[in-house]
Amino acid sequence: MIKVGVLALQGAVREHVRSIEESGAEAVIVKRKEQLQDLDGLILPGGESTAMRRLIDKYDFMDELKRFADEGKPMFGTCAGLILLAKNIVGYDAPHIGRMDVTVERNSFGRQRESFEADLDIKDVANDFTAVFIRAPHIVEAGENVEVLAKHNGRIVVAREGQFLGCSFHPELTDDHRFTAYFIEMVKEAKKKQLA
Ligand code: GLN
Repeated sequence: MIKVGVLALQGAVREHVRSIEESGAEAVIVKRKEQLQDLDGLILPGGESTAMRRLIDKYDFMDELKRFADEGKPMFGTCAGLILLAKNIVGYDAPHIGRMDVTVERNSFGRQRESFEADLDIKDVANDFTAVFIRAPHIVEAGENVEVLAKHNGRIVVAREGQFLGCSFHPELTDDHRFTAYFIEMVKEAKKKQLA
């Protein structure tokens, strides 16, 4: 069975676990870096990227997370998780994991819109996906190998670059598991390739 971890240092973990299980894969709550070794894919959840980064450093996760990315294993960054994956963050000198070729801006939907829902047309996933945005970032620039899968009000909110999938919102907060299922398919395909 496909094993997908959820980085569980901070943020929205439990709902992702449920969503992975509903999509027919085994979910692993990742609290120690050693656990990364036997995973086929990893979800970086929403929460607060600065707090997550502090804990990544405290528990010495960063090298293992970069290694996971460099082994070609699929990673799905949701909201704060997308910020962790991005190569560039507006206003910051250095990225966190920094492997997905996008520039993100934090908290970019404005104070008066701290949180909101929007129905999105996500290419290859669903044309009616209810997305929950909470102090969400958006992608201001996407590299040439990045495929934009959805926009909201002209802003990029879902993108994929090969093994990396990122979104601005919290896909785990509704009962619609189609987006997680899409990621699980990515994980299955990557595993098949690695075994071939
Ligand atoms: N505002 C958060 C950050 O910058 C992200 C919010 C979220 O993950 N819901 O990290």
